Amino acid sequence: MSLVAKYDVPAPRYTSYPTVPYWERTPTTEEWLGHWEKTLHRENSSWSLYLHIPFCETLCTFCGCNTIITKDHKRESPYAELIVKEWEIYLKNLPALSHKNVRQIHFGGGTPTFLAPDVLRSLVERLYTNIQLDPHFDGSIEIDPRRTLKEHLKVLKDLRFSRVSLGVQDFDRNVQRLVNRNQTFEQTEASVNWARDLGYSSINFDLIYGLPAQSPESIQHTIEKTVQLSPDRIALYSFAKVPWIKQIGRAHV
Ligand code: SF4
Repeated sequence: MSLVAKYDVPAPRYTSYPTVPYWERTPTTEEWLGHWEKTLHRENSSWSLYLHIPFCETLCTFCGCNTIITKDHKRESPYAELIVKEWEIYLKNLPALSHKNVRQIHFGGGTPTFLAPDVLRSLVERLYTNIQLDPHFDGSIEIDPRRTLKEHLKVLKDLRFSRVSLGVQDFDRNVQRLVNRNQTFEQTEASVNWARDLGYSSINFDLIYGLPAQSPESIQHTIEKTVQLSPDRIALYSFAKVPWIKQIGRAHV
C-alpha cells in the first residue's frame, strides 16, 4: 500500500511524445510530411507504425480511449480499406518509406480484434506490400479476451507478430459489473494459453486500480489470479476522473 501511495500522483502517459495535452495545434500537411522526410533521411533510421481500430462492442465506463461503440461488423472492411488508402497516400508522398526498414507495427484501440481474422490478415498483408521489415521487426496487438479467437492470434503470428497485450483490468466480478466489463477468468486464461501455444514471446496484462468497489482484498484477489497466469509484463494504470477530457473516466484497454 505504501508503494501505491507513493506512485499515485497524476502524470502523463508517455505513449506519445510530446504527450497529448501538449499538442497545441494540428500540424499542416506540409509540416507533417516535412518531419517525416527529415527523419527518414537520417542515417540508420527506421520507423514504426501505430494502427488504431476504434470499434468496441460495449463501453467500459472507465475508458478514455478513442472509441466507436458498435456491434455492426459490416463496418470492419470499409474501415480497413480506409487504412490501406491512407497508407497509399503516405507511400506516394514519402517514397523513402519503402526503402527504410519498419521496426514495429502496433495495433491499438478500441478493440483491434473487433476485425475478423481474415480482415486483419488482408489488412496486414496489404500494408506489407512495398515496405521492408527490419530483421528485428516485431508486431504487437492489444486484445480484448472477450472478443478474441485463437484464429486472430494465429493469423498475426504467421505475419511475424510476437507480442500481445490483454485488457484485463480486474478479475473481481463485482468490480467488472460496475464498470460494464464482464470478463471471466476463463476468457483471459484462454487468450494467454493460445498466445503461449502459438509462441508469442511477450504477454502483457493491463490492470487498473482506483475502480469502483475495489478494496485491498479485491486487489489481492486480482494479483493472485494474475500470478496464476504469469504474464511477462504488467501495466498497472490508475483510474483518473478527468471529465474535461472524457465524461466518464480515463484509463486504457
Ligand atoms: S477499455 Fe478497451 S474494450 Fe473497453 S471500451 Fe475502452 S477500448 Fe473498448
